[in-house]
Amino acid sequence: MTTINAPHRLYLHEDEMPTRWYNLRAGMKELPDPMLLPDGTEAQEEHLYPVFCKALAHQEMDSATEYVDIPEEVLSIYKVYRPSPLCRAYDLEKYLGTPARIYYKFEGNNTSGSHKLNSAVAQAYYAKAEGLTGITTETGAGQWGTALAEAARYFGLDLIVYMVKVSAEQKPFRKIMMETFEAKVLASPSDTTNVGRALLEADPDNSGSLGTAISEAIEVAVTTEGYRYVLGSVLNQVLLHQSIIGLETELAFEKLGEYPDVIVGCTGGGSNLGGLIAPFMRDKIAGKKDVRVVAVEPASCPSFTRGEYAYDFCDTGKTTPLARMYTLGSGFRPSANHAGGLRYHGMSPILSKLYHDGYMEAVSVEQSPVFEAAKLFSRLETILPAPESSHAIKATIDEALRCKETGEEKTILFGLTGTGYFDLNAYDQYNKGTMTDRVPTDDDLMKSLKDLPQIGA
Ligand SMILES: *Cc1c(COP(=O)(O)O)cnc(C)c1O
Repeated sequence: MTTINAPHRLYLHEDEMPTRWYNLRAGMKELPDPMLLPDGTEAQEEHLYPVFCKALAHQEMDSATEYVDIPEEVLSIYKVYRPSPLCRAYDLEKYLGTPARIYYKFEGNNTSGSHKLNSAVAQAYYAKAEGLTGITTETGAGQWGTALAEAARYFGLDLIVYMVKVSAEQKPFRKIMMETFEAKVLASPSDTTNVGRALLEADPDNSGSLGTAISEAIEVAVTTEGYRYVLGSVLNQVLLHQSIIGLETELAFEKLGEYPDVIVGCTGGGSNLGGLIAPFMRDKIAGKKDVRVVAVEPASCPSFTRGEYAYDFCDTGKTTPLARMYTLGSGFRPSANHAGGLRYHGMSPILSKLYHDGYMEAVSVEQSPVFEAAKLFSRLETILPAPESSHAIKATIDEALRCKETGEEKTILFGLTGTGYFDLNAYDQYNKGTMTDRVPTDDDLMKSLKDLPQIGA
């Protein structure tokens, strides 16, 4: 058996941290299909200016620039909590009796408890640099809202957060945390927007979704002077910012003389996985290396594995331009799965294209086995993982057990995107045996898929 002398947790020195982000699109043989306006014409950068600040609108549309310098101010905040450690899960390997080497990149070591701060800092920086006074956003589980609240406070921006109602009820502490950073937090659907009022009128018990919260946040951003909207996942710009995760991992692996055979990551909108794979997918597309990439999604919200690759709106209110992506339909309302960060109807257009073209695979997993994996992991690694991240743990364990059967000494890397200290209600349900797994039927999916816009089809 190959011996790799990896420490349990490998920390790069902060001076070794990459100073540029990598733009995955620049290396792709075929680009994702262009964003379209509702009339079917191709969206241009200027069309995004009412919604995003200019620098971010540019990053969103820029498929050509390979490496983008990380601004000094952003780097200096990154250095407060990065580089994040690349960990080797020796005890998990031993427990499973697998010949595979299991590594994970741990992004939970900041107030948001997730990787989301990597993009929040960047987006708040550019908004401030353009002289904006405020930003709006949505949050599901609360990690993005917390990350952005922290970033907005740092740069002195006002922030309004529309928080998916079911999450606001399940996670009151998240709200308090955002308010500690002086963000204004509203449960969505709310009566503060036209979109929200219309949905509440149709169904006063509407428990909300990320898509709805996005519609509300955009409505406020485009109607308030000096405000713009920011989004924590899905977008090309977010994958760009998250590439810091993969670039650090690449460096750490170089030090160890390692390279992953398989990369596993949970996917809500695709930003952590897109960031983690960035340099490895670059090498794979260029034909230099061959790594398998596995996206893991909840069976309750299976965009890749049961969705369609089609043009769709990014929000329930159908106010955004259309992106071609794997989608369950913008009207899809996932059941109340505890992995709030994975409850989104669509998927990053970049990852969607890579998946469509066969560069990556996807699996879906049900909630209870995910928590079983989470519990095992917390016992062995002293980190209580976020339910979202635990999807990747579950799929990694499955892969490691397959290696045990075949005797393959694979190097498996997964993204441990965050911690689950605000998800104790979910852990409580699991511990008490009252957790349920609700998987949509084909009929459920047909209901929202039949309303896909008939554009670019
Ligand atoms: C938001 C979130 C995710 C999912 O978002 P992606 O954009 O798919 O990465 C995963 N894990 C955690 C901890 C999150 O907060």
